Amino acid sequence: MTCGTECTDQYLLRNLVWCGLCGVPMVACLMSTGIRYYGCTSTACPRPLVPADEAEQQVWGRFVDLNEAVADILPPDRRRQSLRLVLRRVVVGATGAELRLHWRD
Ligand SMILES: [Zn+2]
Repeated sequence: MTCGTECTDQYLLRNLVWCGLCGVPMVACLMSTGIRYYGCTSTACPRPLVPADEAEQQVWGRFVDLNEAVADILPPDRRRQSLRLVLRRVVVGATGAELRLHWRD
């Protein structure tokens, strides 16, 4: 089964997350434990995997703060699309707990 652009994707921040240490995009990965992570694509990166749930909750919370009216009526499967409209990039700091959100102008 292939996943097209319209298909529901669990990774809210796919293609939006960048490693702040390496300056490269991070990719979504699923461990055999079923836990979702984002990982840096640089082999030299010292960063551990970033738990996807925590990062997504943090970013989505910021979006809700800024767009409360929209967020209230938005179906979950439209969230990623909406984030992409307003967010250029989410840069993960050294610890993974620190996320810098780069909004579109
Ligand atoms: Zn990195």
